[in-house]
Amino acid sequence: MFSQLQNSFQKVFKDLRGQGKISEANIQEALREVRVALLDADVNIKVVRQFIAQVKEKALGQEVLQSLTPGQQFIKIVDAELTELMGQTHTKLHLSSTPPTVVMMCGLQGSGKTTTAGKLAASFKKQGRKVMLAGADIYRPAAVEQIRALAEQVGVDVYAPGTDISPVEICAQARKLAMGKQIDLLILDTAGRLHIDDALMEELVQIKASARPDEILFVADAMTGQEAVNVAQSFDERLDLSGVILTKMDSDARGGAALSIRALLGKPIKYIGGGEKMDALEPFHPDRVASRILGMGDMLTLIEKAESVYDEKTAKNLERKIRGNEFSMQDFKDQLLQIKKMGSLGSIMKMIPGMSSKMGDMDIDDSQYKPVVAIIDSMTPQEREKPEIINANRRRRIAKGSGRTVQEVNRLLKQFQDMRKMMKQFSGAGGKNKKQQQAM
Ligand code: GDP
Repeated sequence: MFSQLQNSFQKVFKDLRGQGKISEANIQEALREVRVALLDADVNIKVVRQFIAQVKEKALGQEVLQSLTPGQQFIKIVDAELTELMGQTHTKLHLSSTPPTVVMMCGLQGSGKTTTAGKLAASFKKQGRKVMLAGADIYRPAAVEQIRALAEQVGVDVYAPGTDISPVEICAQARKLAMGKQIDLLILDTAGRLHIDDALMEELVQIKASARPDEILFVADAMTGQEAVNVAQSFDERLDLSGVILTKMDSDARGGAALSIRALLGKPIKYIGGGEKMDALEPFHPDRVASRILGMGDMLTLIEKAESVYDEKTAKNLERKIRGNEFSMQDFKDQLLQIKKMGSLGSIMKMIPGMSSKMGDMDIDDSQYKPVVAIIDSMTPQEREKPEIINANRRRRIAKGSGRTVQEVNRLLKQFQDMRKMMKQFSGAGGKNKKQQQAM
């Protein structure tokens, strides 16, 4: 996602780098390139025009800050405007003060509605809330099964009585049931449609009237670009949407939907979906996405992800081991698995500033974890604690046990030793480094 736009922006900034000062002349060329980049990304033409006008006004009116080069100043302005375009700050889901909060999902068939309902359920369940999914798609028998299976997978309540009862009735019943069961969040998964269809739209209006949702979220497939915005507008006219969820942001969607929808619809993007798994849902933060587009990475999302897998006790324990030079092969394996919980290695790397443009389309293969874990699993507990005892004989045995080559075992052991050395230096274990000594 956004990789093409990222590359275009990198080029614009590079071209500006050599200039001494922002002037009407050099800004003109940069603006032209930004305009082309946005249009290429399938951003709506009206939105692009307005965006360029705003950036131009700010760039030329800007006091020349001594500390920033023209390229940096321009990035700063574009960053601020992109953030503004996408809605400035994250808009949270509105939780009702008298539970259940009812969330109604709507959108075209295949947009990712049901999957996203499951992801939302998983995310709120993780926060300790009681969630119930309701399946109101009676037109596709498989839909009933899909929602039941998802509910079971994420471990939440489900009400999907089948295809003999009307969707309006299902949603009204679900609300009553949720109240009785003291559910915090009820998610209504409505029927999909292939295109805007009057009869089905009328059904949604009736569901809205009977289930009185606190949120009506339009689920849009980011791959469909500007078309997603048009469809969202039709839904909005009938239902008065409260927000949007953009799915398939992990695909090669060019970004048009993400950049146009807020400006044209006037409704916030609340979440983005980035994969088929149940944990691939992120709150949408306009500022972070803007930084991601400009190739500045997304450190905040990375930090939040890290915080969600590391608790304080684990972190302290780890620090103590590193300081005491007790970091073992077992700890190494545990850490690898922790990082894996944060997502694929490729997706983590892309959030690091400067990495995404270098990586291009290259993705780090997750299967690289497996050989390492297999090798460590073939070691005895003693070997894991004290890898220095692993002699040639033991290396052969470990290679055989893990189905890897002796060379691979050697490489891993060497990497581990190097890492330990580095940790020793940084942690000050076994003597302070030069800088620290000087500072004392
Ligand atoms: P619905 O008809 O709107 O309920 O759509 P589904 O939830 O059944 O999703 C349609 C397809 O899109 C399924 O194959 C999902 O796995 C896939 N999908 C949904 N969200 C995402 C996403 O964020 N990324 C990717 N790559 N696929 C997704």
